[in-house]
Amino acid sequence: MDERFVHHPAMSKPQAEPSLQTGWRSDILQTDFDANLQNRKCGMAVYQHDVIVVGAGLAGMRAALEAQRYGANVAVVSKVYPTRSHSAAAQGGINAAMSEDDSWESHAFDTAKGSDYLADQDAVEVLCREAPENILELDHMGVVFNRKENGKLAQRPFGGAGFARTCYVADITGQAILHVVWEQLVRAALTAYEEWFVTSLVVEDGRCRGVIAMEMRTGQLHLIEGKAVVLATGGLGRVYQPSTNGLICTGDGMALGYRAGAALMDMEFTQFHPTTLYPSGILITEGARGEGGYLLNSKGDRFMGKYAPTRFELASRDVVSRAEQTEIDNGLGVNGCVLLDLRHLGRELIMTRLYQIYELAHDLANVDLLTEPVPVRPGMHYQMGGVKTDVDGRATLPGLYAAGECACVSVHGANRLGGNSLLETIVFGKRAGRAAAQDLKDVGPLPPMSTSVLQDEERRIKALVGRPDKGIRAAEVRSDLGTSMKELVGIYRTGDQLSQAVETTRGLQEKYKSVSVQNKGSVFNTDLISVLELQSLLDLGETMVAGAMARKESRGSHSRRDFPERDDVNWMKHTLAFYTPDGPRLDYAPVKFTRWQPEKRTY
Ligand SMILES: Cc1cc2nc3c(=O)[nH]c(=O)nc-3n(C[C@H](O)[C@H](O)[C@H](O)COP(=O)(O)OP(=O)(O)OC[C@H]3O[C@@H](n4cnc5c(N)ncnc54)[C@H](O)[C@@H]3O)c2cc1C
Repeated sequence: MDERFVHHPAMSKPQAEPSLQTGWRSDILQTDFDANLQNRKCGMAVYQHDVIVVGAGLAGMRAALEAQRYGANVAVVSKVYPTRSHSAAAQGGINAAMSEDDSWESHAFDTAKGSDYLADQDAVEVLCREAPENILELDHMGVVFNRKENGKLAQRPFGGAGFARTCYVADITGQAILHVVWEQLVRAALTAYEEWFVTSLVVEDGRCRGVIAMEMRTGQLHLIEGKAVVLATGGLGRVYQPSTNGLICTGDGMALGYRAGAALMDMEFTQFHPTTLYPSGILITEGARGEGGYLLNSKGDRFMGKYAPTRFELASRDVVSRAEQTEIDNGLGVNGCVLLDLRHLGRELIMTRLYQIYELAHDLANVDLLTEPVPVRPGMHYQMGGVKTDVDGRATLPGLYAAGECACVSVHGANRLGGNSLLETIVFGKRAGRAAAQDLKDVGPLPPMSTSVLQDEERRIKALVGRPDKGIRAAEVRSDLGTSMKELVGIYRTGDQLSQAVETTRGLQEKYKSVSVQNKGSVFNTDLISVLELQSLLDLGETMVAGAMARKESRGSHSRRDFPERDDVNWMKHTLAFYTPDGPRLDYAPVKFTRWQPEKRTY
């Protein structure tokens, strides 16, 4: 039997060799069913692993591979098939100081400055120092990075960077990396529970001991026991409407950690990307400006010169988005947008390095980028905040780890630089996986888990499905949340808007109690899933609004019209949010500095 297709490490009986079409479906292998048949007969299913990774995007897969390398029995749980994770949508590239003329220190300085000095500099140093070796590792795994004539890796300029240090695969970088890392996962024969939706974390005696997950194909709930859990569930873009994020980006992991008692950090910092298509919110990569694209207002002026006289379109994202919004607010927009002009780049460059966005502009905006500019506007793209962790992914709850977009290490502070997020998933995914496996040495034998956790969760979900139909649908509440977040917690914010947002999100939480699940079936009940996701969106929306309301300054992506200046005396600190049934409780934590003292940011 071809070893690449051995799926379950604990498999002992000979298996029918899965065909290529069935792919990697360890969750439906007969062995799993046999092993758990007895439990299933009693209505229970128990799975046991050392490390459970929730999420099969880049951060999750990288964490899982590393945890296994350090000897742990690892399982990955994912609500979608791994290669459908949002990492696949990443277009522009991944940063690393690869050139002799560049240095990791310079990358780290740009990152700290880009963060408006809110990033923890010890973490920024780790990110940038470890970047080149991680890129080479990906290269050796088989990622087909674009290269220069001399064979060295090609790198394009990105916003807020003092050097062209973004490695790329045309404008499909995320997809190219995700597929290669996934191949490694298949090769490592890791256990995967695909299309299993984690509904809660299990915490016993103050330690995270596993997850409860719904097998979406059958609707059955399972307890997956572990000694450590790594959250790698990606972003929460869908708190807003529209967003560049996939429909699956509902912040589940952040909310799971939050409800289980872990601290969330810096939730008020949401990145608005300068170039999203109207009205869909689909992303046009920063690579378009990196390759030399211009932003124009309705008069045809390249307005960025007014706002960032040195870097123009390649200032950091918060600066460019604010500039665009100011032009639009001053009546210099074109139907609520500005124009992205690539015509001068020429056919060959566009068709080879920016082909995906050529197609997106053509299909979704009816624009031929070779002959006309495309209308774009700033849109919700990325969440800087997340589950607070140390540089090895440890969350504040013992046994819980987090990596990737759902974590806040914090390397992005108040504003992330383009190309640093893919890098974060790889660098910190690896570190979190290693720490989760290594820390097990210090974990003594754990007492058996109480079986009632699964029954309690079954009762909770049953009650949700059994709610009387009052005509209130998840989609309606989700849309109200998304629109109010866009309007009240946008690029510019005011105290009045934010207090309105506090009331709106609280009101929607109340309304949520009357949302009903229409589909009472158990097979792929996406209606139920969307109701569960909505709870996460609402919980997180509340933390974002509360943090923004409290922070009376403007820093990075958080711009208060009523407090337009950065205030290092009172606000050079991280916001922490803790769950209470009545809404988030806020606290604060110091920012770590190593080499770079805060300066005024200009580009
Ligand atoms: C359109 C777009 C373009 C981007 N381009 C770039 C770029 O060029 N460069 C860059 O650096 N960054 C870019 N980013 C950001 C970057 O791609 C993401 O931040 C990063 O890929 C997130 O990876 P992740 O592994 O943390 O999460 P994801 O890739 O989002 O994966 C999340 C995983 O969690 C699983 N999951 C979630 N909830 C549950 C649950 N309840 N139960 C079980 N599983 C669950 C999902 O199934 C999925 O496998 C882009 C983002 C977008 C949206």
